Amino acid sequence: MAVSGIGPYDPQNVFARILRGELPCNKVYEDEYALAFHDIAPKAPVHVLIIPKGAYVSFADFSRNASEAEIAGFTRAVGTVSRQLDLEARGYRLLSNVGEEAGQEVPHFHVHLFGGRALGALLP
Ligand code: 5GP
Repeated sequence: MAVSGIGPYDPQNVFARILRGELPCNKVYEDEYALAFHDIAPKAPVHVLIIPKGAYVSFADFSRNASEAEIAGFTRAVGTVSRQLDLEARGYRLLSNVGEEAGQEVPHFHVHLFGGRALGALLP
């Protein structure tokens, strides 16, 4: 389904290919609902991408069309990754770009997790 002006889901997008094992990733965490891996071009000492296993273009698509179990499972996975990376005491930032004006490049919903330094008031 097309949401946020970035077109329908393209099963050849890089994150879909990572999920299928066609492209490698530096995995941080995986469960039934989510996969987390290091960003290929990190913008902070910790820069991890957390993606749902379902085929959703963006947060808009995911929040509208994912099941309650997928939403709960994915949300818990984000929290698990932040704990696994030992970021809770220092803090961290979650960010999801949605669509063209936010600069979303990969059309598979993902959350960026940034940490490991003072991130400042502006987006990284
Ligand atoms: P967006 O701009 O869509 O929110 O962010 C996409 C992110 O995916 C960027 O930070 C980019 O560095 C990262 N990325 C793009 N291609 C790959 C890839 O093949 N592997 C990994 N690990 N990250 C990627």
